[in-house]
Amino acid sequence: MVARHQRNRIQQKASEFCWRARRWRARQRLGSLNAILYVIFFVLLVGGFIVVVTPLLYRSLCLQVSDRAVLFAGLLTGAIVWWQGHLIRRQMELGTTVGLYSEWNSEEMLQTRGAAWLDNRPNPDKIEGVLEFLEKVSTFEKEGFISRGLIWDTFGWYLWRYHFYCKNVIEEKRREWTPAVPDPTLYQDLERLYPKLVRMELAERNCRQSSGNVLTEADIVRELEETKVKFIEGEIPERDQNPMTKAAPKVRIELGPSRIHKGGVGVFAVCDIENGQKICDGLSEDDFKDLVSWEQFERYDTDLQKKIMAFCVGTPDGFVPPIDFDFNKLSIEWYLNHSCEGNCGFNDEGDFVAIGDVREGEELSYDYGLVESNPRFSMECTCGSRTCRHVITGNDWKMRNFFLKNREHMHPHLRRQLAKFS
Ligand SMILES: [Zn+2]
Repeated sequence: MVARHQRNRIQQKASEFCWRARRWRARQRLGSLNAILYVIFFVLLVGGFIVVVTPLLYRSLCLQVSDRAVLFAGLLTGAIVWWQGHLIRRQMELGTTVGLYSEWNSEEMLQTRGAAWLDNRPNPDKIEGVLEFLEKVSTFEKEGFISRGLIWDTFGWYLWRYHFYCKNVIEEKRREWTPAVPDPTLYQDLERLYPKLVRMELAERNCRQSSGNVLTEADIVRELEETKVKFIEGEIPERDQNPMTKAAPKVRIELGPSRIHKGGVGVFAVCDIENGQKICDGLSEDDFKDLVSWEQFERYDTDLQKKIMAFCVGTPDGFVPPIDFDFNKLSIEWYLNHSCEGNCGFNDEGDFVAIGDVREGEELSYDYGLVESNPRFSMECTCGSRTCRHVITGNDWKMRNFFLKNREHMHPHLRRQLAKFS
């Protein structure tokens, strides 16, 4: 049995050795594959040369000179073909990486990455878009389409950080999608690549720094914790950009004489809009926190009351007022008309989205029952659709037939109320 202090010493020696070995390996990494290939290529050439030359010196060897020449030519051709294959592979690897990189920095992905964080924590509703991309990168590495070294150089920084900060969310997602038995295959390639990349990072940094302080995995973990907020801030695009340089959002809607509400105004699609695509801002959950009470409503003059009943989304507790409470400043989406078979609904953020493909010039409308819960609200409907309810009320959302049919397009505020019901 080894005494405790001796054992510690042995462990220390062993870890020092491991570190040296890793340091050596890291130093060799860049171009190491190339170096091996060069050596093999060179050995083949020298070997071939010997095969050709030896019979001239030792006539007793059994192969004919011509056989040796053929053998040499075969070896050389094989080596060249192999080398070409290697170059093509490198080229394809580069192509894959460039493709992934432009996807990672595309406008859409930057938005997804920005939305993936909420109050310096991963946003469980939005993070999956990013995790799926990083899982794809990890799978490419596993399948050998990109080398780990190339990933370390390009996506490594994001990959291990996203994995580190989202560990809990990944666990949650596994339970969420397969409640019976959490699915361990969800994001498993990402999980598998994470420790390898961290080890690679350690090796690279240890081999490049001269101070002799050896970084450990605990140092990296501490670093990740300490720089978490900074990293997340970097992922979220700046909100108050200079309007002179900011890219203007695409125009999708305009006002025009309504075909549904005869004699009234309606909102029309300026371009084709795909199913699920966001059309314009709707109401956020916060908008439902600053309601104007119905007692307050009673004190307004009739003109204002009419406006509120016609334009404002109501709840049993009050209504959602327009910005600055100014009905002179209603933005276009306030003019969306009701239809019992509308082509708009709400997404998880409460924004208006198309719930079918919409053609340019089509009038946009949504079922007011998807968001209205003011018990006093009632209007006649002449939308003319097959399933017209003729009278629309602020209680429609609670009707079984209605919510079974429309739940996924209802405003998240009402979806949450429904969840309390059932
Ligand atoms: Zn109708």
